Amino acid sequence: MSSHLELPVSAGPLTLVYPKWLPGRHSPAGPLTSVAGPQFSANGNPLVWHRDPIDPYSFHLEIPAGVARLDADLEILTASAPDGVVQGLETPRSATESLLILEWNQLILYPAETHTDDLVYQSSVRLPHDWKFATALTKVATTDDTLSFAPVSLTTLVDSTLLAGRFFRDLPLGGSPAVTLHIAADTPVALHMSPQTESQYKRLVREAAALFGATHYGHYEFLWALTDQIMPDGLEHHESSDDRSPLRALLDDPTRRAEANLLPHEYVHSWNGKYRRPSGIATPDYQTPMQDEMLWVYEGLTEYLGDVLATRSGLLTEPEFRDELARIAAAMDSHSGREWRSLQDSTIAAPLLYYQSRAWAARLRRQDDFYQESALLWLEADTLIRRESKGKRSLDDFCRLFYGPPNTQPQVSAYDFNAVVNTLNAVYPYDWAKFWSERLNRLRPKAPLEGLQAAGWQLALTDNPSTMHAAHEADDKDLDLRYSLGFYVDDEGATIGDVIPRSPADLAGVSPGSHIVALNGYKWSKELLHDTLATRIEPTTPLTLLVEKDNQFKTLMINYAGGERFPNLTRIPGPDLLKEIARPVAR
Ligand SMILES: [Zn+2]
Repeated sequence: MSSHLELPVSAGPLTLVYPKWLPGRHSPAGPLTSVAGPQFSANGNPLVWHRDPIDPYSFHLEIPAGVARLDADLEILTASAPDGVVQGLETPRSATESLLILEWNQLILYPAETHTDDLVYQSSVRLPHDWKFATALTKVATTDDTLSFAPVSLTTLVDSTLLAGRFFRDLPLGGSPAVTLHIAADTPVALHMSPQTESQYKRLVREAAALFGATHYGHYEFLWALTDQIMPDGLEHHESSDDRSPLRALLDDPTRRAEANLLPHEYVHSWNGKYRRPSGIATPDYQTPMQDEMLWVYEGLTEYLGDVLATRSGLLTEPEFRDELARIAAAMDSHSGREWRSLQDSTIAAPLLYYQSRAWAARLRRQDDFYQESALLWLEADTLIRRESKGKRSLDDFCRLFYGPPNTQPQVSAYDFNAVVNTLNAVYPYDWAKFWSERLNRLRPKAPLEGLQAAGWQLALTDNPSTMHAAHEADDKDLDLRYSLGFYVDDEGATIGDVIPRSPADLAGVSPGSHIVALNGYKWSKELLHDTLATRIEPTTPLTLLVEKDNQFKTLMINYAGGERFPNLTRIPGPDLLKEIARPVAR
């Protein structure tokens, strides 16, 4: 993609910057190393520039006398990481032969030290002939293949990703203000959505309205790209979300299930993250570093509400909601990084943790597990309120108070720790400051499963893979043996992704990045592993794993006597609060 900018300037020194800290990414994710340019000119003459020696995102120029307009050209690689792996600051792939996700921040510069609310940008875009598009921006004109949009602040422009594609459909989802689902896919058949799924997405809009009681957008556009060439992802905006799923997310049932909470999660962010925003993340521009210590609310509560709304709208069944919680609980329980690093620390370190590979995450880093662990804590808060108020109040009341009326246009209302605690106190008086401080700062090896227990359920590892376990295995294209042998391995290359600390595989010396060649002397396959674990004829004989790593072969002996183990929830005495939480509330 290439861009041409025309910037009003006056004679003298000028510093232009490339957006570095991106909203929703909580990190300095501006893909500078994928950019060619800038190339500057004035009145047709090239202008030299100098990169700032300390901040590589800053470009210094001297504007000559008599120049009122600076021209700048930028180009960005849209397919620099075809395998979906983001290397350093490179941008992940954002275009295919048939669709394009345009994030404006990748193609612009702006004057340094200026509030992005105060800068007005008028944009236009030229798309391949016959491509359709959607964006939260207002289109004002179309000439040939060029679309022009109404002027907006730089903040709004960067908040208004554009989705375009050859195969495209628009689905009104109702709501007031109106919500529309736009889908672009790499093949025309992948656009097909069953009437049942369509009605569930319409219900999602009604359930969110019932949960929050107000909206903070003038209209809302889901921008859903279905492709196997772009890394699955989601990015929230005020009036839209940039949603990326595998090509067959609407056609293949396991993939549909595994992706079911993506749109609910990003939609919740319109309230939690865009409208109400932690003060450390509500920065005035894209160069000021973000402070992420409140991500346990921004992402953790969104993770929880995303699953709740997916269930209330029927995208997930109630058993699938439980399966999802079991998956989270088991994964969190297998992370030993919690022994040295608090949940609070993992949010503060988020800008680094987002860019770590999954290798060694369970042992060392926790990766970005503040999403899931905080979701379990919000469940605990929800059950506490429900139990103590005898079912009269719940986290739904918090959502209405904190994110709800009155209806507004997109705007930011910043908050801090105390605001969260005070609102929880208004819902149900309790020592919420202590509740959260303890849970955020403690060093405790075990995952917080108290909320599940208070809801009447406990984590159990059984020999039955749940529907959601199978769905995520299919979606992630891996074989998840974390709770039996203690590792997961990718479908195709048989490469071990991560190893669970103190698991049989860990004790045997299995390490991430190893390539499995053989099991018990036979060529490795998924089926061989399933069959071997399911029919252990001599369970006390160690399994042998022949692995290749760093050009060396090694035979490792794994002492494991059990069969396959999968996370599930089993019922314990007391009321079933998950049933209450999952119940639809919209009329
Ligand atoms: Zn999120």
